Amino acid sequence: MKNGSPRLDLLIRNARIVDGTGAPSFTGSVGVRGDRIVAIEPSDVEAEATATLDVDGRVLSPGFIDVHSHDDFAVVFEPEMGFKVEQGVTSEIVGNCGIGAAPHECARGFSNAIFPGHQLPPWNGFAGYLDYLDYLDENPPSLNVGTLAGHGVLRQAAMENPRGAPSAGELSRLRDSLRCALEEGAVGYSSGLIYDPSRWATTEELVALAREMSRTGGLYATHMRDESRLLLDSVAEAIRVGSEGGVPVQISHHKASGRASWGLVHDSLRLIEEARAQGGDVTADQYPYTAGSTILSAVLGWLTGESDEGLRMEPCDVVIASNPDDPSLEGLSIADIARQWEIAPADVARRIVEQGQLRVWVVLHTMCEDDVQTVLRHPTTMIGSDGIQTPAGKPHPRLYGTFPRVLGRYARDLAILSLEEAVRRMTSFPAEKFGLRDRGTIRVGAHADLVVFDPETIADTATWTDPRRAPEGIRHVFVNETSVVRDGAHTGARPGRSLRGPVR
Ligand SMILES: [Zn+2]
Repeated sequence: MKNGSPRLDLLIRNARIVDGTGAPSFTGSVGVRGDRIVAIEPSDVEAEATATLDVDGRVLSPGFIDVHSHDDFAVVFEPEMGFKVEQGVTSEIVGNCGIGAAPHECARGFSNAIFPGHQLPPWNGFAGYLDYLDYLDENPPSLNVGTLAGHGVLRQAAMENPRGAPSAGELSRLRDSLRCALEEGAVGYSSGLIYDPSRWATTEELVALAREMSRTGGLYATHMRDESRLLLDSVAEAIRVGSEGGVPVQISHHKASGRASWGLVHDSLRLIEEARAQGGDVTADQYPYTAGSTILSAVLGWLTGESDEGLRMEPCDVVIASNPDDPSLEGLSIADIARQWEIAPADVARRIVEQGQLRVWVVLHTMCEDDVQTVLRHPTTMIGSDGIQTPAGKPHPRLYGTFPRVLGRYARDLAILSLEEAVRRMTSFPAEKFGLRDRGTIRVGAHADLVVFDPETIADTATWTDPRRAPEGIRHVFVNETSVVRDGAHTGARPGRSLRGPVR
């Protein structure tokens, strides 16, 4: 911003700059030109700029990165992604929990279950990720999108009977399709070891795929086999895949689920620390709530008692979030419905799953606040919403509130993290882990993904009964320099880009 330098496109003045690295904030100005940050001045400056924004001492930080999203299809069908960018999120990673948008013929069924009546646009190719990412560049959403390759979908595509062990030929086809997905732009691969058909994989299979990936780069993200009584075994398995496979590990939505498991996160965090002390790149993500959410069919065994391992779930803790076949059940627990229908809770769950299959989503109140805070406090935890948009129903409020909730409730109100550290967990830390180059920090040369928020008022407002509510305190959001949220309202702009992985 020296005299004689070319005119800026955007000058953001009078900001409390939280640069994403965890360093103390400072007051200053940031200049942007041609989608990049070109100047940072620790003072208020006058400079030639096409647009100037005086933010009146509010926080200016890098845009937030949601490392755990399930909006593989929402970015196609609802590209404005208001529920996400209005939280300050400027980039997200989809393809989590073994699920993914490609290849097309495997992804279509899941897409139809989430967005009934919406036709998934065609994308081709052996792995399909190249076409998917190209599609997003040609039909951009409002935020940047990177994807993992879903292990469950890889299995579906490569195996005759994906609910079993792969033959030698099928294992080599699995390896080929993973390599191809990485070459096509995936940032790694994800497993979903409670879901069909990912859960049929042995640790050896996951290691074999990790070894394949270690030749090109990319991380292994995992929804572990068991997040309750067998949590520690699950974390050990994830760490083993990383160490034997030679890849970085991301433990998805780190938690201890079910009363009998509360407190185990102290031990699981210790396992992560030990793995890191031995040189492993092991980290985790978390959403800041004491309830989870998934499809009802995935937890049926735990609810009916037919699953002999792990979690027992109480019917009063399982609440229907979305049920397109009978929206009147949304917001009711399995116990509520059992009283209405005058049948046993297990039979309620079975009947709803039979009717609704993959379309029924539930919220599961199975965690405790102490554990949420313990995990959040730990320096290896970054933030991921685990949100999934469904066109109707009452989704888990994390879809609308995750990032403001960390900054408001947990950083400001409960002082679990400093403001600078909370921002780091949602910016530079995830950018580094997921290989998102030139994003996640405010520095000269970085992409101009930026958020302006009011640290005094930032708060989530989405609740269990009224989840579709935008947060408070997010004033402005810029994605690749373009304003997508102005004075708290979506501008309709869609400047997002695909974020491609280590193989280019
Ligand atoms: Zn998951």
